[in-house]
Formats: sequence, structure tokens, C-alpha cells
Amino acid sequence: IRNLGWSFHGDQPLFDKVLAEPVDWDFVMIQMNYFDWKYGRVPAEYMYNRLVERNIPVMIMEPLLGSRLAKVSRAVSEMMQEERPGDTPAQWAFRFVGSHPQVMVVLSGMTLMEHLQENIKTYSPLVPVTDKQKDMLAKAAEIIRTYKIIPCTDCKYCVPCPYGVDIPGILLYYNKATWDSNLPDLEGQRDAEFERASRAFLVDYNRTIPELEQANHCINCGECEPTCPQNIKIPTDLLKIDNLVQQLKTT
Ligand code: SF4
Ligand code: SF4
Repeated sequence: IRNLGWSFHGDQPLFDKVLAEPVDWDFVMIQMNYFDWKYGRVPAEYMYNRLVERNIPVMIMEPLLGSRLAKVSRAVSEMMQEERPGDTPAQWAFRFVGSHPQVMVVLSGMTLMEHLQENIKTYSPLVPVTDKQKDMLAKAAEIIRTYKIIPCTDCKYCVPCPYGVDIPGILLYYNKATWDSNLPDLEGQRDAEFERASRAFLVDYNRTIPELEQANHCINCGECEPTCPQNIKIPTDLLKIDNLVQQLKTT
């Protein structure tokens, strides 16, 4: 082994315990982005600062929080545009992580050539975020925190489900509807807008998730839950989504 390190998915006591081992680690990989900086399961700020104290090079995973930070709400987008017109939400997220001097590597899953080109442009050269811009991103994180998002990063550690449920597909569909303000509000008024949102939600759900892979096929066997690094109560969330779907079908 030439470079010895570890990638971290646990809780804070475990992080502290591993870091306290008398080993000269060559790197540690943590989940870090401007949202997880304060609101991660273990705040990235905490982990990053501990690694700086030990002078351990930091590798970053999930700089875009499972691509959620690549598409932000209008309120966040307007703040970003005002500060640096033309920059994309993904560029802001990459600049945030790249601005921390202890960061050695930023891992980003890219599917299109444009993603690769944009990432190279962002880092050639990197323009570090200013203190004022850091405050703006902290405000953006506060806004994002108010969305009732399930923290799925689409890592797929939980699949395959023995009953064929498309766990990440369902959770991400729900998140997208929430993010885009397209989630029908069962507590609100049953007006034309509610009917439109309900129809759109159900049609897109059936289009996105094949019928045999939908949430109603979860039998709560519990097999998936321990595999989730984000600690998501998967069967509970699937039941919640299925209840929503069933209620919308009967309204
Ligand atoms: S709890 Fe549900 S989703 Fe998870 S493995 Fe079991 S059947 Fe599949
Ligand atoms: S393991 Fe957790 S975070 Fe990863 S895809 Fe499954 S539910 Fe999402």
C-alpha cells in the first residue's frame, strides 16, 4: 500500500475514534459540500477542521450532494446570480469545496462531456469563494434545509431490494417533486391547483418508476436499511411515499 486512508460514512464518535488511532494517514475522504458543512450527519466543518489539525490531506465525495446542489430553487439561484452572474449552481458548489486549502481531491461523478468541461473550467484556475460568498452559501444551505428532502445521494448501496423496489428511484422522485414545489399538499385546499399537482405527481411517478418497482411492493423486511450510509429509514420513507400515492389516487 502506497497511500493509506479511509472514506468515512459513520457518526461523530466513530470519526473521532478512527482519527485517534496512532497512524500517519495519507488521506481521509469525507462528504463535504456547502450544505453538509453545517447540516451533514457529521457536519463537514467539524471533520474538515479535525483533519486540518492533524494535517491530513482531505478527499471530498458528494460535492454536489448527489446532484441536488446542481439544480437549486429559484430563491437560491437568484442569490447566486446576483453575486456572480452566469455561474452555474454546480460551479458554486465546486468552488466552495475547492476553496479549502487542505482539500487534495474532489470526486465528482460525471455523465456528460459538458459536466467534465464545466468542471475543468471551474478549476482552471479556481477562483476561491470570498468570505461574503461563504456567508451567501451558508444562507443558501439554510434555505435548502427548509425543504423536506430525504437525504438520498443515489449511491445505490441499498440495492438490489429482494422485492424489486427501486429504492433510490422512488426517493429521488419524491425529492425532485419537493424541490420543484410540485408535491401536492394533502393538508391544503382541494382546488384546481391541488388537482393539477396530484395528476402530475401520479402520472410522472408511473412514468418514472415501473409499476412492479414502486413503493407499495416494500414489505418492510428491513434488509436495505443498515446498508444506507445516510442513515435513511428507508422502509418508513417508502411507506410515507406510498401513503401519499394511495391518498392521491382516491382524491
Ligand atoms: S425494507 Fe422494503 S425496500 Fe428495503 S429491502 Fe425490504 S422490501 Fe426492499
Ligand atoms: S443507500 Fe441510502 S443514500 Fe444510497 S441510494 Fe440507498 S437510500 Fe439512497
